[in-house]
Amino acid sequence: QDVVNKIAAGEIIVAPVHALKELIENAVDAGATQLDVVAKEGGLKLLQITDNGHGIDKEDLPILCERFTTSKLKAFEDLSSIATYGFRGEALASISHIAHLTVTTRTKESSCAWRAHYADGKLTSPKPGQSAEPKPIAGRPGTQITVEDLFYNVPSRRKAFRSASEEYAKILEMVGRYAVHCFGVAFSCKKHGDSSSGLSVPASAGMLDRIRQIHGSAVANELVSFKTGNDRWGFKCEAWISSANYSAKRTTLLLFINHRAVESAAIKKSIEQTYATFLPKGGHPFVYLSLEIEPHRVDVNVHPTKREVHFLNEDEIVEIICEEIRNSLGKVDT
Ligand code: ADP
Ligand code: MG
Repeated sequence: QDVVNKIAAGEIIVAPVHALKELIENAVDAGATQLDVVAKEGGLKLLQITDNGHGIDKEDLPILCERFTTSKLKAFEDLSSIATYGFRGEALASISHIAHLTVTTRTKESSCAWRAHYADGKLTSPKPGQSAEPKPIAGRPGTQITVEDLFYNVPSRRKAFRSASEEYAKILEMVGRYAVHCFGVAFSCKKHGDSSSGLSVPASAGMLDRIRQIHGSAVANELVSFKTGNDRWGFKCEAWISSANYSAKRTTLLLFINHRAVESAAIKKSIEQTYATFLPKGGHPFVYLSLEIEPHRVDVNVHPTKREVHFLNEDEIVEIICEEIRNSLGKVDT
């Protein structure tokens, strides 16, 4: 059973950035307005995320890392959002099977914070001979998740990582993605012991400031935005896209569906084709797209690590968005 759990965990989390994405989403779901990430050796040695969200009740700590433990399944209609996000209640469980996991958390109601260590889905003692029970400690409301020695028990996976700086770049990119998307939330990310190595966005930053700080002034000065959507296909879309005056070597597509960062090769291709007639040959755009789609219309049938999403009437919806892009680009004076 443990081997099965370990293999399943290794399929959901194949790189530090996958663990990080889950942890960011948990913090955002907990209503955090401040989210700080620290990584060591590309997240393989240490990945720590501290939030000021609502915290976890002490009573919930013993089962926190059991598979399918989730506090996010309240109404029947939520069944469709399981479909959307898949693998509900599996993130912390998975991480506990392939890393040393420490959770420090305090709710507003609690007079102190509690710290718990996990291995293979269960509470464990930090040192031989000590109790596995959560311990009271001083701490502020919120949650800190510490993931150490990721893949320590999966040597083949561990060996597959060639460069810590590549893994850190992915971590920074993912934090940057959510920092653009999560309005009203402050984000920071740095390498352990090196505060010059990352990014920092205050909660008060508006969309343009967020994009400027993470992607630079060249693109921030050339953005246009639009909103679209319709009831027929059950979607809403908000976009911030580069104008025809901006051109990069590679496309940046920050795609969110129902507030989760996802990938879509199909959408990327359509956007690149739409821009091709507006940009010089070889030029690529910056596109931030936030789509809200009725959960039952989003396709479940996706492997978690690919994070590729499909939804009903995808072609029609993408065409509406590309039409808006054409309109926006045509309107800009050059
Ligand atoms: P899911 O997010 O699908 O519910 P997870 O394994 O990611 O599953 O998390 C399990 C549960 O742990 C969550 O449902 C939530 O109750 C709690 N949790 C995890 N991270 C946090 C956090 N940062 N703040 C508050 N609660 C959290
Ligand atoms: Mg989660």
